[in-house]
Amino acid sequence: MADPVKITFLGGLGEIGRNCFCIETQGRILVVDCGIMFPEPDMPGVDLVLPDFTYLRERADAVEGVVLTHAHEDHAGGLAFLLRDVSFPIFGSPLSLGLARSRIEEAGLLDRTQMIPVRDGERREIGPFEVEFVPVTHSVPHAFAAAYHTPQGTILHSGDFKIDLTPVDGRRTDLASLGEIARRPGGVLMLLSDSTNAERPGYTPSESTVGAALRTLFRDHEGKRIIVASFASHLHRVQQVAEAAIGTGRRVAFVGRSMIKNVTLAREMGLIDIPADRVIDIDEAPNYPPGEVCVVCTGSQGEPMSALALMASHEHKYVKVGEDDVVVISAHAIPGNESNVSRVIDAFYRTGAKVVHDGNAPVHVSGHASQEELKFLLNLVEPEYFIPVHGEFRHMVHHAELALASGVKPENVFVCEDGDQVTISDQHVDVDRQAVPAGYTYVDGIVGDIGQGVLRDRRQLAEEGVVVVFVTVDRRSGKIVSGPEIVTKGWVHATEAESLLEEARETVRKAVEDATESGGTDFETVRRSARRTLGKFISEKTKRRPAIIPVVLEV
Ligand SMILES: [Zn+2]
Ligand SMILES: [Zn+2]
Repeated sequence: MADPVKITFLGGLGEIGRNCFCIETQGRILVVDCGIMFPEPDMPGVDLVLPDFTYLRERADAVEGVVLTHAHEDHAGGLAFLLRDVSFPIFGSPLSLGLARSRIEEAGLLDRTQMIPVRDGERREIGPFEVEFVPVTHSVPHAFAAAYHTPQGTILHSGDFKIDLTPVDGRRTDLASLGEIARRPGGVLMLLSDSTNAERPGYTPSESTVGAALRTLFRDHEGKRIIVASFASHLHRVQQVAEAAIGTGRRVAFVGRSMIKNVTLAREMGLIDIPADRVIDIDEAPNYPPGEVCVVCTGSQGEPMSALALMASHEHKYVKVGEDDVVVISAHAIPGNESNVSRVIDAFYRTGAKVVHDGNAPVHVSGHASQEELKFLLNLVEPEYFIPVHGEFRHMVHHAELALASGVKPENVFVCEDGDQVTISDQHVDVDRQAVPAGYTYVDGIVGDIGQGVLRDRRQLAEEGVVVVFVTVDRRSGKIVSGPEIVTKGWVHATEAESLLEEARETVRKAVEDATESGGTDFETVRRSARRTLGKFISEKTKRRPAIIPVVLEV
C-alpha cells in the first residue's frame, strides 16, 4: 500500500483570487501558490483578502516549500503574509521570483527566505515529492504548469495557462512534455486545471493579435499622444506596445512604480527588448510633440491612486490629458473593478481624449484558456480524476462539464470549494467537504488583519450611518441634567428632519426618566435603555438600522 496523498484547497476555488492549495504525503506539505484577492465593493476599507492560513500555521514544521507557478498577485501576493508565521523556500522561474521578491523584501522577510530558481522542464525533488516544471503561456512570461509525482501517482496542475501557438517570446505551452508525462506508465492520475474561461467557447486568441491591433491603432493616430495602461506584470504586452510606439517614431515613457520596477527587471533579465535611446523619463515627455510620445502606465483596473486615475482626474504632475490624447486600456477589468474602470473612462472622455478599450477594439486578449483549449488539455493528458480549480463556482461547474465531454468518468470528476480536502489512497479518492478553515482573511493596510466583526461594523456604518445620543444624569437623584442631544451621520439630514429628531429626543428622555424612576440610576441600565428605545424608534419611523452609540455622563 502506497502512502496516501492529501490535497487541501485553501483558496481560489469559488472566487477569482487568493489561489492556494497544498499537496501532502508522509506528513510533509508542499504548498502551490499563495495569492491574494482584491476586495469586493462591499468590503469597505479592506485592501486585500488572504486565504485562511490556519491549516499551514498549525503544521508550520511540515511545510517543505511553496511552488510559485507565476508571479501574478492572485498567486504570489500572499507569500509575504504567510512568511510571517511559516518559513519555507520558494520555487519558481527566475522571473516569478524576481517579481515576487519586492513584497517579501518590503515585509523584511527576504533574509530568511530562500528563493530557488527552476528551469523550464526541470525535474526536482522537494521533500517526498518529485516536481516537474512545464512551461505554459499566460499573461505574464515564464509561467509553469507542474506535475507532482506522488506515491499515489502523478497529479498535474495546469497553473494559469492558455495555448498560445504564437507567443511573443516563442516560449510555447509545452504540449509535447505534457503528452509525454501522460504517456508514461500510470499516466496522469489527477488533473487540476484553470477554470477562468471555462464558460467561453472557442480558443483564446494569441497575444500576437494584440500586437497587430496596436500597430494599426498607433498608425491611425499619428500626431496624437498615446497613453496605454496595462498590467505591470504583462511584459509581453508592454513589449508589444513599445514596438508599436517605436515603429511609429515615438519615444516611450514608463509611469507607475510597479511598471518602472518590472520593466527595469525584465530589461535586465533580457526578457524584453526596448532600445535605451527610445526610452525617456516622464518629466521629459513635454519636450516632445504629442505624436512622438507614448506613455505606458499602471492603473488598468481604475485603481483610485494609480497613474491612469490621476491622469483622468487632471492630478498627474507630468501628463495633462486633452484632445491630443488617445488613451488605450489594454486590459480587462477583474470582477469587482468594473465600476472603477468605467469611471476612469468617463473622466477621460470629459477631457476630450479618445478612449480605446477591449469593448471597442481588439486591444486585449485573455491569458486563460477557453473551452477548446481546456478540452485539448483534457484530451492530451487523459486524467483518471479531474478537479477544476481557479474560478468562480460557475466556471468550475462548466469546466467539469468539459471534462465529462472529454471522457472523464462522471464519478471521477469533483467540483470542490475552498476548505475541501481530497484524500487519494490506493486508487480511491475521497472528498471531505469543509474540512479545514478557509474563510476570508481581510487585510487593512494600516490597521492590519481585521475580523468579520470590524467589517460588519463598517458595512453597517456605510449603509445605515450612525446616531450618537448624549445625556447627562445626576448620579444621586437620577434626574436628567442636560440632553438628550442627538448627533447623526448618514441616518437623516439633521436640518431637514428637525421634528423627527425632536421626537427622537423626547422618546429617549422618557425612556431615561422611566429607567431612573424605578431606581435604576446605574450607568449601564440608562445606556441600554437609551439605545434600545432609540433603535426601536428609528426602525419604526424610518426602517433604518444605524449604529447607535449612547453616551451617558453622570454628574
Ligand atoms: Zn495568472
Ligand atoms: Zn490566476
